Amino acid sequence: MNLLIIGAPGTGKGTMSELLIEKYGVIHISTGDMLRESVAAGTEVGLKAQSYMTAGLLVPDEVIHGVIVERLAKPDIDQGFLMDGYPRTLAQAADLDGILKELGKKIDCVINLELDEEVLVGRITGRRTCPQCKAIYHVVNKPPRVEGICDVCGSELVTRKDDTAESLKTRLNAYHESTRPVIEYYEKQGLVRTIDANHAPEEVFASIRKAVEEA
Ligand SMILES: [Zn+2]
Repeated sequence: MNLLIIGAPGTGKGTMSELLIEKYGVIHISTGDMLRESVAAGTEVGLKAQSYMTAGLLVPDEVIHGVIVERLAKPDIDQGFLMDGYPRTLAQAADLDGILKELGKKIDCVINLELDEEVLVGRITGRRTCPQCKAIYHVVNKPPRVEGICDVCGSELVTRKDDTAESLKTRLNAYHESTRPVIEYYEKQGLVRTIDANHAPEEVFASIRKAVEEA
């Protein structure tokens, strides 16, 4: 089973990905991880990617293409995969289809996590991070034992700059603008299963399981 997961920051994409990997034994393919692995392995594409990353530039599509081809050529891919964070654009989606076709593979289901903006803003802006040990809390969902203090190391918790409502709105707009065409692309192929992520993780995962097993 080859899956793709799409969801804005705060939709619980990371948690759902972990659950999917555990339940179906699929390989997790995240472009971020792959780029880091290629760089660490010192492969040709890795070196190319590194030159962009160290310059603080976005890694261009043709380099990502090389990384994806390299990863999908590994035999463990036959277990099925869960792709996360890719494709981000229409061009990348079409490119991925081409790569998979050559391998005799295809995407079976695209999981699209949707969350009401209000819920999302609440989840993100309530987040508090420990600058010391990186533990993450939430003022409502996962408060520390002492308000504003890290349970683990006792440091004072902070709100990350990215976690303010304003910064989130900007990120969300950019996210929706770039993701919409990708979702539409897969909708035309009848692959998209939109999941209501406004519920507790176990409920959300139950809906995902149902969608995946019916796909
Ligand atoms: Zn801490």
